[in-house]
Amino acid sequence: MDQKHPETGCWRRGPLAELATAAAALLVMIVAAGTANTFAAQACKPTPPDMEGPFYTPEAPLRESTGSGLVIRGRLLGTPDCKSLPGGRIEWWQADRQGRYDDAHRGSQIAGADGTYRFSTDFPGVYPGRPPHIHIKAFAPGHRPLTTQLYLRGGETEAAFDIVLVPVR
Ligand code: FE
Repeated sequence: MDQKHPETGCWRRGPLAELATAAAALLVMIVAAGTANTFAAQACKPTPPDMEGPFYTPEAPLRESTGSGLVIRGRLLGTPDCKSLPGGRIEWWQADRQGRYDDAHRGSQIAGADGTYRFSTDFPGVYPGRPPHIHIKAFAPGHRPLTTQLYLRGGETEAAFDIVLVPVR
């Protein structure tokens, strides 16, 4: 059964939903591991989409920090030639250090020159059945919106994550 958190009002998924989510995440990780060796040769491989999950809220406030201790940086790029997408928008949302989703851990920012972005945040708390992760959406004119997730091993203070979008045909 899904459970509504009494303080935050956020819904937490029940064990079955979490299990299904974990299985899907594992599949994504296996696929990602299998393509890791070829990634360098295919720098403009589109970023694989991943589940949105139940905690997305549109129009998160523009800001560069939703906490401290973990810095995420990268570039927003487009296929086929890896061109940078300055002016594109990146949104992120994640659990707090206790593993609960809250509005304090939602943010948006506009990619700068060369498509670069950087935000600092708290290390996402683990909730049952999932590896630590940050949810990300990215938008750029002329490109398909992307919903994906950045997975962490645990203990990182920095992570690099280029986001590669596909043009609308
Ligand atoms: Fe999540």
